[in-house]
Amino acid sequence: MTCSAVRRLIDSFLAGELLVETTHEVLAHLSGCFACRVFLHEHRRLRTRLRGAWDRSDELAPRDQFLASLATQLSRPASRARRRTPWWRRWPSLAAAAVLAAALVPAGRAGISGRRLSALVAAAVGDHENCAIEFRLHERPISLAEAARRYDPALRSLADLEVPSNGPEGPIRVLERHVCVFDGRRFAHLVLGYRSQRISVLVAQGALPGSTPASREANGFSVAARPAARHAVLVVAELDAGQTAALADTVAPPVAQALAASE
Ligand SMILES: [Zn+2]
Ligand SMILES: [Zn+2]
Repeated sequence: MTCSAVRRLIDSFLAGELLVETTHEVLAHLSGCFACRVFLHEHRRLRTRLRGAWDRSDELAPRDQFLASLATQLSRPASRARRRTPWWRRWPSLAAAAVLAAALVPAGRAGISGRRLSALVAAAVGDHENCAIEFRLHERPISLAEAARRYDPALRSLADLEVPSNGPEGPIRVLERHVCVFDGRRFAHLVLGYRSQRISVLVAQGALPGSTPASREANGFSVAARPAARHAVLVVAELDAGQTAALADTVAPPVAQALAASE
């Protein structure tokens, strides 16, 4: 499919109106054509803005009926009484769980790094979905060389890093390398082809919270996080946790070595 053919179809593509085969052809073209991905991205933004304007025109105006029912609910004495009951009286099992959770976390620090890891994993999954799978980032990705110049010299080492060509369950191909931003976080991003799916290897600046390998599940993806000195390497895949961990154990060590050598 040519660039102009893809661009003619872009509105129908965004509206989900194309046949499955045509959608696949468009996706195949997009995965190899940066210019068309930028085009898609501009169109999606325009659509979102138009839609937002449309929705705001009447949906946000509160309906009389809703206001009336709200007033009734707020004036009911029962709801006030209920709000005064302390939560541990109403949900004793939850209180027990909270005590247990507090006992299991030895220091505040572990809890904080757990939350930081969860936030990092959520951002990695979001980047994988929005950059590697759906091509709908808010910012245009830049090259590793440019990012190395502007933000983090260690990233230069990833530009010509040799990724192992064989994973535990088949060959690995590097489909793309760049640096992209999702939800305010910057990732060096290697998109791999493995077991007929696109897989993300994401490198974030800053040590891995917790500093030990970790496996998480989020949004139907499994994530294996590996520490790499002053960076964290996250592998995001639609595989089961064990398979993703095995793949991470193949690709994360050379990434970590390359980063360490140039730090
Ligand atoms: Zn194109
Ligand atoms: Zn990316």
